[in-house]
Amino acid sequence: MNKIKLVVAITVVGFLGLQYTFIEQTQDPAKDQMKNNQTNNDTNKQKTMKPINKFEFKPLPYSYDALEPFIDKLTVEIHYSKHHKAYYDNFMNAIKGTDMESMDMMDIIRNISKYPMAVRNNGGGYFNHTFYWESMKPNGGGLPTGKLKEAIVKSFSSFDEFKKQFSDAGKTRFGSGWAWLCLDPKGTLFICSTPNQDNPLMDIAEKKGIPLLTMDVWEHAYYLKYQNKRADYIDAFWNVANWEEVAGRYETALKSLSTK
Ligand code: MN
Repeated sequence: MNKIKLVVAITVVGFLGLQYTFIEQTQDPAKDQMKNNQTNNDTNKQKTMKPINKFEFKPLPYSYDALEPFIDKLTVEIHYSKHHKAYYDNFMNAIKGTDMESMDMMDIIRNISKYPMAVRNNGGGYFNHTFYWESMKPNGGGLPTGKLKEAIVKSFSSFDEFKKQFSDAGKTRFGSGWAWLCLDPKGTLFICSTPNQDNPLMDIAEKKGIPLLTMDVWEHAYYLKYQNKRADYIDAFWNVANWEEVAGRYETALKSLSTK
């Protein structure tokens, strides 16, 4: 029963907006992003509501240097334009000529065990990074508010204790992977971590849930600035956490559970 609820919730939420979204018209999101970083010129761009390629490589929601000094410009630039883009390109190559081309990204992710490892690794990498960029914002940090704060305190006893447990999930992930805050099918928050490019939506996840917040703990996410000191990057992450976004995801996830 709970599994069914979760599957329905995941379908309804579609939280990455990979199917339809408001986008800025552009031929090449990566190039467009670079242009954005150089100027604030927004001429010749029109906000257009239209169905888009559901496998869009979304523009970075801020400039490369926007998370300074906590996450440095070069790290964000390479992470987005090289690493994230490579996962995207490799994912697109991996699904080329297959039924997956016409599928919903969420259906691929949640049935990931049916597909080749190249799809799991690169589809996961494509998906997780989009979620990661939107989990952060310039001048972020502080405390969550409203229902989200209440839920965090209820589940973890205090915000500080939540931070500690989430940070520990990142610090103790051996090798490369991710830390997550998720909602389980009963509407309870939990923290987990996943290896490589796996995520809690995948059918292979140890504990499945709807992701609300993520932190990349691959070395490429911090090595240029923090070298081997992953813990320092994790401490810095709290200064850019996008609590508004997480609160929105929480509300949407809760609604998707209650409509079932
Ligand atoms: Mn990464």
